[in-house]
Amino acid sequence: MTGTEAGAMRVDVFPTLDDEGAAMAELIRGRLHGVDVREVTSTQPFALAASMVAADAVVLDLTPGSAAHRYTAMAYPWRQDKVLAVSRSYLPLNIEPVRPGGTAPYPGRLDPEEIAVWVAAQVRELAGRRRPSFLQRVRGLVGMTAGTHTESADVFISYRGTDAEAAQALRAALEKGDHHGGRRQRVKMFDAGQLAHPEAVLPVLIRWKVLALISDVLKHARETWIVDTPRFLQSWFTQGELVCLAYFAWPGTLMAYDPARGSAGPAPEKYMATLDATGRKRLARYFVNSHPDLMAAESMAALRKLRPTRLPLTRDEAFDDEFWTLPLLQCTRCSIREPDRPGIDVAGFLTNADPRLYPVALDTLAACASEQTPLRCTNPDGCPQRFTVRALPPYYLWYALPVADGSYLGTIPAYAAVPITS
Ligand SMILES: [Zn+2]
Repeated sequence: MTGTEAGAMRVDVFPTLDDEGAAMAELIRGRLHGVDVREVTSTQPFALAASMVAADAVVLDLTPGSAAHRYTAMAYPWRQDKVLAVSRSYLPLNIEPVRPGGTAPYPGRLDPEEIAVWVAAQVRELAGRRRPSFLQRVRGLVGMTAGTHTESADVFISYRGTDAEAAQALRAALEKGDHHGGRRQRVKMFDAGQLAHPEAVLPVLIRWKVLALISDVLKHARETWIVDTPRFLQSWFTQGELVCLAYFAWPGTLMAYDPARGSAGPAPEKYMATLDATGRKRLARYFVNSHPDLMAAESMAALRKLRPTRLPLTRDEAFDDEFWTLPLLQCTRCSIREPDRPGIDVAGFLTNADPRLYPVALDTLAACASEQTPLRCTNPDGCPQRFTVRALPPYYLWYALPVADGSYLGTIPAYAAVPITS
């Protein structure tokens, strides 16, 4: 920070209440020259609200995991544009800061020095703007003008992980103005593994959380481009993206790009999913229960009782609360659809019948991981495919209201299953 305009900036830092938090606060202070940096260690519920009114930026250290974390009664402060959410490890599933970049991706860590550099860049950006009036700041606090930092994209690219190279090439072409008469496009695509661990046995909650985040981009994009290969519909996520587009009433144009020929045109009929009233209702429920900004984790009893004793057997049971945290296995041998099948079976997709996903008890995964025994595909009709299982770092959930034990943070066990090929 240089120059006189930054002299008046005030930045309040809420570090985790341990040595690591204190050390990171010092690193941040060291990067903010000429800024009034105040470290806030008060755990009073109003301390954060007061800083959000009085300071120009608030650094909120949301590193979970230790007893020193800062999760208390908080009304989604990370949705405010001037709140810089940072974390040395990955955030709870239901926290999605409006300013991304200051937190580690699952399941990794982020270096405190990198976090300090990121904070300094954000503060510089905020300093470059006009100082909001006191009234604007109070309004921002009560959520009337909550920050919307997400930039909308012109084009969203939908692709299979196996076609990542073709997708990158398409992105570069669109950004240059190809297929648009030279008009450069703002393109958004998610890298494989960016939103979910590629080997994880994902519960419904996380599958739909990923689709909810993708939908935030999808529903505002003017065009969605499919990297159209025979494999395109074999992924649960690509099918899900098309189902979500139907839910949002086809907000833009759907285009298909053939990487073999380098040609593009309107997407064929087989990619147009149709939703009936039942499907629409189910999708609404999935979004409400899984979108980080909508999910009320504290109200879902299942999230506090994480060892289901009974697996859902019928489709109706698949909508019990318990089902949300139950890991679902997608088998590389028997869950894959034949490439020449027409269209998407939306009802089957929404009930995990197409592609077929098989529930696996957490206890089974835990036993396979600890005893190093392979997991056999849980397809009830029988399937010889076997998987190597290992434990992953647990997922966190943030509770806006404390649950029975007074805690604001819960965990869900996580496991990876890798098919054994030989
Ligand atoms: Zn199988």
